[in-house]
Amino acid sequence: MEKTPFLTKSQAEDIIRDIPTPFHIYDEKGIRENCRRLYRAFSWNKGFKEYFAVKATPNPYLLRIMKEEGCGADCSSMTELVMSEACGFSGEDIMFSSNVTPEEDMQKAYDLGAYLNLDDINFVPFIERVCGVPETVFCRYNPGGVFELSASRTGVQVMDNPGDAKYGMTEDQMAEAFTRLMNDGAKTFGIHSFLASNTVSNEYYAELASILFRLAVRLRDRTGAEIKYINLSGGIGVDYRPEEPTNDIFVIGDLVRQKFEEILVPADMGDISIFAELGRYMTAPYGALVTKCLHTKHIYKDYIGLDACAANLMRPAMYGSYHHITVLGKENEPRDHRYDVTGGLCENNDKFAVDRMLPEILPDDILYIHDTGAHGFSMGYNYNGKLRSAEVLLRQDGSHQLIRRAETMDDYFATFDFSEFSFRS
Ligand SMILES: *Cc1c(COP(=O)(O)O)cnc(C)c1O
Repeated sequence: MEKTPFLTKSQAEDIIRDIPTPFHIYDEKGIRENCRRLYRAFSWNKGFKEYFAVKATPNPYLLRIMKEEGCGADCSSMTELVMSEACGFSGEDIMFSSNVTPEEDMQKAYDLGAYLNLDDINFVPFIERVCGVPETVFCRYNPGGVFELSASRTGVQVMDNPGDAKYGMTEDQMAEAFTRLMNDGAKTFGIHSFLASNTVSNEYYAELASILFRLAVRLRDRTGAEIKYINLSGGIGVDYRPEEPTNDIFVIGDLVRQKFEEILVPADMGDISIFAELGRYMTAPYGALVTKCLHTKHIYKDYIGLDACAANLMRPAMYGSYHHITVLGKENEPRDHRYDVTGGLCENNDKFAVDRMLPEILPDDILYIHDTGAHGFSMGYNYNGKLRSAEVLLRQDGSHQLIRRAETMDDYFATFDFSEFSFRS
């Protein structure tokens, strides 16, 4: 499907007069409509709840939008917990799905009344010692082996390697954890698993659901534990490439419903609530990195140098990820130039695109890098002294709001003790 920016060139120019490039911009309308579709798709399940994976886009203005749409927050660190608390999330609005968890983080999650999602059997004695055992506890499952799914509709394969992943417990450990937690006074349980990331297949969630639903029946039969929640976590992906299929959340919701009716209802477990911890699916398509061409360069290849770099969006450099690029105002021009689109880090992998066919690009052209709304700004870093960009919200009425200012050199220098030095920014 052709990818269309949610911003026109003249809208972008208006914003740039106010907020210089580069910046990430988020589309409030798109985010809200997508939330509502998700809740409609799972409305067959009475207790359905999405816990937005805060790590995808940790900005309080976006968390507040998620909260207004009925979402909770999925956290994995102290900072994410504190930000979620500041946004008004507490108690059952917070899922704490952490791993390698420090004591103070676990204590904070407990104090907030969050659902604790234990990554390991050793977290049972850990919470006994650190904070105590709450009435409801989640445990994270790892089935091991290889997870493979060939999707009939698209021919797209989903493959991941749980046997190689650091997360979760074995089935025997799950049973042991439930038994011990019940002895400690826990009354109800949730189970969670995350088997594959960025799936563009309507079948992934249902396949995961059937694994977890069957596990829930076995664990109930084996331990007598009352399982009330099944957390399908994240992993529903987005079509970063124009030629990729788009996930249909209504098909996904319905396929999960079929597994629910096939496995849980006959086992007398039809009152289980389904939870999700989607991150990418909730925000990726509704964010973009807006950046200007600083320089063009023609040597053995043709290069376009931007004022953004991998420090603003590290996915291409880190995973070789594809992000579609539109040159604003040149949407209808032929893509007849082959470019490497780069940032200015002293690293040759600082490339947003390699051998990408685009219209002719000149200095000052505005480039719109698509689908940066999740794991974009949030993975930013300061290598080469590059400062983090601003974040902007495109409101539903078309106005824009600065929701995080750009970093300054003072921010960058703030962690040094300057008393022995005389320079200042
Ligand atoms: C990253 C993560 C998510 C969100 O994953 P997406 O692929 O962005 O949907 C959810 N739960 C946990 C525990 C995660 O680590």
